[in-house]
Amino acid sequence: MSLTEQHDLRGGTPSWDDGGWDVPPADALPTSPCDIAIIGAGIMGSVLAERLSSQGLSVVLLDRRPPGMGSTAASTAELMWAMDVPLCELAAQIGEEVAARRWKWVYRTVRGLAERIDALGIDCARRDRPTVYLAGQKLDEEGLKQEGALHRKHGLPTQFLDNVTVNRRFGIPPRSALISDGGFEVDPVRLTHGLLDIAKQRGARLCYPVDVTSLTEQEDCIVLTLADGKTISAGQAILAGGYERAPLFLPPAFSLLSTFVMATAPGVAPLWRGNAMIWEASDPYLYIRTDAEGRIIAGGEDEDFIDANHRDALIGQKAGTIAAKVGLLLGSAPLAVDRAWAATFGASPDGLPAIGRAANMQRIWLAAGFGGNGIAFAALASELLASVFAGQDDPDADYFDPYRFAIPLAQAAGH
Ligand SMILES: Cc1cc2nc3c(=O)[nH]c(=O)nc-3n(C[C@H](O)[C@H](O)[C@H](O)COP(=O)(O)OP(=O)(O)OC[C@H]3O[C@@H](n4cnc5c(N)ncnc54)[C@H](O)[C@@H]3O)c2cc1C
Repeated sequence: MSLTEQHDLRGGTPSWDDGGWDVPPADALPTSPCDIAIIGAGIMGSVLAERLSSQGLSVVLLDRRPPGMGSTAASTAELMWAMDVPLCELAAQIGEEVAARRWKWVYRTVRGLAERIDALGIDCARRDRPTVYLAGQKLDEEGLKQEGALHRKHGLPTQFLDNVTVNRRFGIPPRSALISDGGFEVDPVRLTHGLLDIAKQRGARLCYPVDVTSLTEQEDCIVLTLADGKTISAGQAILAGGYERAPLFLPPAFSLLSTFVMATAPGVAPLWRGNAMIWEASDPYLYIRTDAEGRIIAGGEDEDFIDANHRDALIGQKAGTIAAKVGLLLGSAPLAVDRAWAATFGASPDGLPAIGRAANMQRIWLAAGFGGNGIAFAALASELLASVFAGQDDPDADYFDPYRFAIPLAQAAGH
């Protein structure tokens, strides 16, 4: 069995693709052992590399594609701390205290990532944005009120607004909503490349195209074997291969589907106030953001399969449906589609990632950001693994343990 799956991760043309990505150059393979080998140089691998290299660890990143050209290039890159599974729903599954601690972790890491991007001066069109979470069939007005109250009880910055106030404040048709602060938008590819540039300045090596085909633990190191038979040795290896899952280590609860996105031409925004990031408490869901060039980017319309031919054949139709839904949501005509794309997407039962040591292994770690907050989860993984490698065990680390679904969710409440 191969180490990771291989998928055609995306089709169509993402709005970030302006015809010339400034991809950091590839380095030669290392000839001596490194502290940390990271398999995957998407947003997950790059956040990890920047963070771990800042701790003085020697890092090597290996990718079968150019960096950032996997799922990261398809991301709509809204950095939100509110997650796919509402806090009240997660609280009912695993208990309020544990659920709230997990949410607060994600909130802290989203803010931490924003501060780190600014402190490092990474040019990635980062802008703080309010988040508008509109009432839908998943959470109606009463459900939103309860969800908002739970957020505030646990110190999360959320406010409930009735439909009239939402209309006045954001200039969209009346619908009650939760308004949250603390989120932001970025260009995911520029962020990935900016982080990699910094890690490289600190001595990290970025090796691509390189396919890692197997990992062998030895007493004092881990040996990575590449498709051409060459080997690299490291103190620890992190599997950051995104939705190209490592079947030997990642449990099947982390599943794949297909998702679709459309973008208008530049200069269409603003169509509502504050360029807030808007999403709906509905299934199927819809989410909308703007970008630095004034495009409106919207996504949703998920399908429960990952066949790339089937997926890509639907791009035009799905983009039209999303454009019409956005028009309805904004009370305008359907938006004119300029770009459209489709991608594989990963989900987990509790909307949370898989971060932690691989089963029965001493030197292999998983960092898989499944769920709609994948970029926030990259920041979370970097914090968690930075602590582990610094010899500090985090008591909350098992919240994101890849094997947490081996026991019924209700029993996990005692963690
Ligand atoms: C359409 C869409 C919208 C999204 N919107 C948001 C959003 O608004 N906010 C948010 O936070 N998240 C969002 N996400 C999720 C987020 O974008 C992803 O979680 C994230 O991009 C995944 O990054 P990654 O680095 O884990 O994976 P990738 O970017 O795919 O990088 C993994 C890399 O690993 C490499 N690799 C795999 N196996 C091997 C191997 N054996 N050897 C060598 N290389 C290997 C691959 O080539 C790949 O480049 C969205 C995702 C999609 C698809």
